[in-house]
Amino acid sequence: MKEKLTNYIRAAYPVVYITTFEEPRIESDLKAVCDNLGYGLRCWSITEGLLDVTTGAAQDLQDPIDVLASIPEMPEKTVVLLRDFHAFLGDETQPINPLIARTIRDLVRTLKTRQQCLVICAPLLRLPDELEREIVVIEHELPGRSDLGAVIDGIVESAGLPMIVGDEKERLLDSCMGLTTSEAENALALSFVEVAGLSPAIVARQKAEAVRKGQLLEIYENPGSLDDVGGLDALKAWLLQRQDAFGSRAKEFGLPSPKGLLMVGLPGCGKSLCAKATAAAWERPLLRLDCGRLFGGLVGESERNLRRVIQVAEAVAPCVLWIDEIEKGLSGSSSSSSTDGGTSARVLGSMLSWMEEKTAAVFVIATANDVSALPPELLRKGRFDETFFVDLPSEEERQKILEIHINKRGRDPKLFDLVSLAKACDQFSGAEIESAIVAGMFAAFESGQELETSHVGEAIKETVPLAQTAREKISSLRDWAKTRARPAATLVGKSLGRKLEPLS
Ligand code: ATP
Repeated sequence: MKEKLTNYIRAAYPVVYITTFEEPRIESDLKAVCDNLGYGLRCWSITEGLLDVTTGAAQDLQDPIDVLASIPEMPEKTVVLLRDFHAFLGDETQPINPLIARTIRDLVRTLKTRQQCLVICAPLLRLPDELEREIVVIEHELPGRSDLGAVIDGIVESAGLPMIVGDEKERLLDSCMGLTTSEAENALALSFVEVAGLSPAIVARQKAEAVRKGQLLEIYENPGSLDDVGGLDALKAWLLQRQDAFGSRAKEFGLPSPKGLLMVGLPGCGKSLCAKATAAAWERPLLRLDCGRLFGGLVGESERNLRRVIQVAEAVAPCVLWIDEIEKGLSGSSSSSSTDGGTSARVLGSMLSWMEEKTAAVFVIATANDVSALPPELLRKGRFDETFFVDLPSEEERQKILEIHINKRGRDPKLFDLVSLAKACDQFSGAEIESAIVAGMFAAFESGQELETSHVGEAIKETVPLAQTAREKISSLRDWAKTRARPAATLVGKSLGRKLEPLS
């Protein structure tokens, strides 16, 4: 950030807009940059007026127009930091005050020639059309390991704790990555209050809450295990082969960082389950992006949302970023210039270029049910390392899924006739098998009996699987997958009387 600020100030950019929740970090960076360049620094806020940071002199200027008007009187080579100035730049309900817009535009030339720079620091970006060309926007990066290390050291010192070093510090730093400095400080302080020490688990819990507040991402702390996934052996083997791929040994060996995986398939067949289990197997945090939420109503909001998602994912890296139902967010991209002013297409473009160029260890798992809605650019070779097709489970897989879910409900699978149950639930998805077990449990409970094969068998008989009502959809998905995806299981496709041939 310091380097960027230095360059913009030296290049006489008149107005720089920084979006951040971390005012103090910006202020200290800006102070360091100004000291280094020999510039003066003045800070303004509606509550405190204008303060000359170098001399400590304060001016009682509350009105934003008065502050702007006072800038030409300030010495050359002065940076003026305007806190929360977004509040005066209009929003979707009301345009910018024309006097403020005109004053800033009039100021621009003076600012350039007098080497003065306005730095707007605000948590939200509000860029009125009138000023779009005059303002350069910088997104404040989340703090890195050294910034957060300083926060940890500060808390250790003020709490009188013994120094934290080595692996312990690294683990604590991992848990802090993705938080702002003040969020990290709060989480660490809370940990101290709760357990009289600094616990990575408590910080991770607070991080999950902080990320959830942003409404775009969710962090899963205990996402499950690959043992919870019945079948899908080819997919599991592929994932296990890459579990150490972000480590230093893999790098030394010359392996490229894995980019990501696209899982396409029928609903309820375990795509989400696999995404969660991958993060658990790799011992990496899982971030889930709800693709539909990326799209905001305001101009540029969707692109900004994507940038925020990328920022958090890169800060939390190494991690797994799961983009659930990717088709829902991006389906409009091909026709979007006519339907949404090109927003989906732009978001897709930004996402694809990030996926291709990313150097951070973020493994993207995208899941999709409807391939017809997937933009062709996403499927082009090189975007994902692999595309897997997740079909209905084979008989053998159904047996395994029955075993997993009976076991999960505290029953011994050996006491059940899994072979006949697996035969009976032909064409069922994993989710439908699970529901049949639950329905069987309700029936057993109602009749005051312990759960038996017959209860599950009855529930299976009463279920009409989705596969029966969506034959055409399934068959076209299988046709699509034949040439474009690898089967996630080596024994797939017997269900609808059709054998899928694995691609070589
Ligand atoms: P959707 O596309 O509708 O989100 P999905 O393919 O992501 O479906 P999941 O959400 O993973 O399906 O499956 C729903 C639930 O069904 C899982 O939480 C799990 O309990 C059960 N299930 C599905 N497939 C399997 C499987 N292969 N092994 C064990 N459980 C499974």
